[in-house]
Amino acid sequence: MSPARPQRVCVLGATGSVGVNTLDVIERHPDRFELVAISGHRNIERLAQQTRAFQPRWVVVPDDEARHQLQDLLGPVTTDILVGEAALAEVAASPDVDVVMAAIVGSAGLTSSLAAARAGKRLLLANKESLVVAGDLLMRAVAESGAQLLPIDSEHNAIFQCLPAEHRRQGVASVLLTASGGPFLHTPAAQLARVTPAQAVAHPNWSMGAKISVDSASLMNKGLELIEACWLFGLTPADVEVVVHPESIIHSMVRYLDGSVIAQLGTPDMRTPIAYGLGYPERITSGSAPLAFDPTLKLTFDQPDRQRFPCLRLAEEAIAAGGTLPTVLNAANEVSVAAFLDERLGFTDLARINEQTMDRLGTMAVSSVEQLLEVDHRARQVATTVIKEMSA
Ligand code: NDP
Ligand code: MG
Repeated sequence: MSPARPQRVCVLGATGSVGVNTLDVIERHPDRFELVAISGHRNIERLAQQTRAFQPRWVVVPDDEARHQLQDLLGPVTTDILVGEAALAEVAASPDVDVVMAAIVGSAGLTSSLAAARAGKRLLLANKESLVVAGDLLMRAVAESGAQLLPIDSEHNAIFQCLPAEHRRQGVASVLLTASGGPFLHTPAAQLARVTPAQAVAHPNWSMGAKISVDSASLMNKGLELIEACWLFGLTPADVEVVVHPESIIHSMVRYLDGSVIAQLGTPDMRTPIAYGLGYPERITSGSAPLAFDPTLKLTFDQPDRQRFPCLRLAEEAIAAGGTLPTVLNAANEVSVAAFLDERLGFTDLARINEQTMDRLGTMAVSSVEQLLEVDHRARQVATTVIKEMSA
C-alpha cells in the first residue's frame, strides 16, 4: 500500500555515497517519494546530473562560485539554487518537506540535522557525527518537536529493527555492535605506521566516502558508533558489546535477558537501511541482492584489539567522561583524517593527534549548540597545532 500522496524528500549530501544510494531507492518508488531538495558541496557535476534527472524544487550549494558553475552546467531550469549553510537548514525545516535524509559528512551536518529535528520531520540520520557532537541536544529536539528519528547507519538500523517494537528497552540485556575490523584487521602493529590512504579507503565489504572509510580502518568509526548508539537508544557504554565480524553480514544484534539474541542480516548494501527508513513502517524494495544461504556464507567473530586500534578506546573514554569531550574527539578526528588522506600524517598518528587534542582541551558541561560549534572550532585549531608540532 502506497501513501495517499508521495512523501516529499530532501537529501542533504546527495552527491555522496549515502546520497547516491538514497536517490537510487527513491527512483525505484516514484509513487511513494518525490525528491524536492538536494545538496552537494564540491561535486557540482554530479549535482547537475541529479538535478536534471529528478528536477527538485531546490538545490543547495556552498557558495556563489558553485552556484555559477551549476547554472552553467544546467542552463535554464525551474530549480531554485540556494547558497550556503543557512540554506541547508532552511530546506531541512521547510513546511514543503516531509522527510530529511541527513547524509552530509562530519560536523558540517549538525546544523541541518538539528533544523530537521526541531521542525518535526522524519529524520533519516546517516550523519553520525551530529549525534557524537550534540547527542543530548539533538535527542531533546526530536522529543520536543515530535520528529521521527530513524537511524540509517547500518548497525543502528539493525539494532532499531531488533529492539522490541514497543517498550524499547524491555528485557534487553545488551546491544552487540558489529565491526568489520576494516582493511587492517590482520595487519601487524609494526606495519600500521606505513599503510597508505589508498589501502585505508579500500574497505573489504562496503563502498563508502573517504572519511568514513579511514574511520573504519582505525576503528574510530566503531567508537563514533558506540557514542551514536548510546544517544539513540538511551544506553551506557557498558550496555554495548563491540564484536568484530569481518564478513559484515550481521549488521548488529540485541541480546535479551532470557538468552535470546536477535540479529539483522543482509548483504552489505546501504540501500537496505535507507529503504527501511524511507518506507517505515512498511517494507519496500531497495535493489540490494538477496542474501544467499549457501556454503560460501561464513559468519565469524572476534574481539576488537584496542592496542592496535586505540581510537576505539578514545571514544569509550570520551563518552564516559561526557560533556564536550566527544565533540573535541570528533573535531580532532576530522582534522587528522583529512591530514592522513592528504599524506601529511601516518596512520598511527591519527590516534596520537586525537588523544593529545582531548588531553589539551579536556571536557566541559554542554550548554548550547553555539558552545558546541565553538568547541568544534577550537578543537580543530588545537589538532592542527598538534600536527604541526609533530611534523616539526
Ligand atoms: P561522502 O564523502 O561520500 O559524502 C558526503 C556528502 O556531504 C557529499 O554530498 C558532500 O558533497 C557533502 N559534504 C562534504 N562536506 C560538506 C560540507 N562541509 N558542507 C556540506 N556538505 C558537505 O560521505 P558518505 O556518504 O560516505 O557519508 C555521509 C555520512 O553518512 C557520514 O556521516 C558517514 O559517517 C555516514 N555513513 C555513511 C555510510 C556509507 O556507507 N557511506 C554508512 C553509515 C554512515 P560533495 O561530494 O559534493 O563534495
Ligand atoms: Mg556503520
